[in-house]
Amino acid sequence: MNKTQTTGASMRSRLSDSYRGPRMKRYKALVKEMLAGFVLMSGLAWCTRKLLWRDRVAVLLYHDPDPDTLDRHLTYLGKLCEFVPLTDVSAPGRGRPRVAITLDDGHAGNAKLLPVFIKHKVRPTIFLCSRIVGRPRSHWWLHPGSLRVGHERLKRMTNDERLAALAAQGYQQDGDDRPTGLSIEQMQAMREHVDFQAHTRFHPILTHCSDAESKAEISDSRHEIATLLQQPCEHFAYPNGNYGEREVEFVRAAGFKTARTCDIGWNDQHTDPYRLRTIIIDDAASTLRFAAQLSGIALFLRYLREGGGWRGKFPQF
Ligand SMILES: [Zn+2]
Repeated sequence: MNKTQTTGASMRSRLSDSYRGPRMKRYKALVKEMLAGFVLMSGLAWCTRKLLWRDRVAVLLYHDPDPDTLDRHLTYLGKLCEFVPLTDVSAPGRGRPRVAITLDDGHAGNAKLLPVFIKHKVRPTIFLCSRIVGRPRSHWWLHPGSLRVGHERLKRMTNDERLAALAAQGYQQDGDDRPTGLSIEQMQAMREHVDFQAHTRFHPILTHCSDAESKAEISDSRHEIATLLQQPCEHFAYPNGNYGEREVEFVRAAGFKTARTCDIGWNDQHTDPYRLRTIIIDDAASTLRFAAQLSGIALFLRYLREGGGWRGKFPQF
């Protein structure tokens, strides 16, 4: 093959890739909408609501949704169930399905959600990374260097390896950078309507940390959030859903009252408070997909495919 042919072929390939990318995205989005329609029309979503959700608490997990999407989700939820704060997760049922809203990481975009929370009379819990929010720092996976290495690859490294790989890309977890978290002013403006709790200091994969690192990430974040907001910090969320017996013990010893996992399920007074279950919601889900996601079916199938087993456990690695 001569140079001209190679160049022509690679250009055609690049053009075809750039065309295939958006087309594949649209195709995947369409398939997801169709599957969501099937989950709703088949009665599967109704069955999980009647058999599993009942009057328990569904703890929904968002990250950085836009206000309009969240508004549509909460409008749909308001007709279906009762909003409760996360602190009510172990209170006895009142005959109606209940839902608690949580958001992880403390993204700066969460500040725009305040009018939506007020409109729907929802008091969400936002789990903050105590050494990222309120400072000009970025969450490690939002740094361009992290994209270059690959998020999934980084998540599977030991903590030392991950930090070294990120340092080689110009990222220092305790160095100033582009701020991606909520500012002090934003948190102060939100605190009347939002419950701020802890999500470690820097968001490592705890199960890939040494004993000392894991312990410090958990217990220091509790003190730092309490000091930052001048209020008790009693609830924790495991970053990325990775935790083991060791983390549960550290969370308990640090004085937290509950910890939220990424394991699928609904909660009541019988749920282990250090292994609260959740339903992860796609931040950008259409209302149709959101309604289907509440059943937990899509998430269950994803976890099953990735080795999480039949009990809805987050596939640990
Ligand atoms: Zn997180």
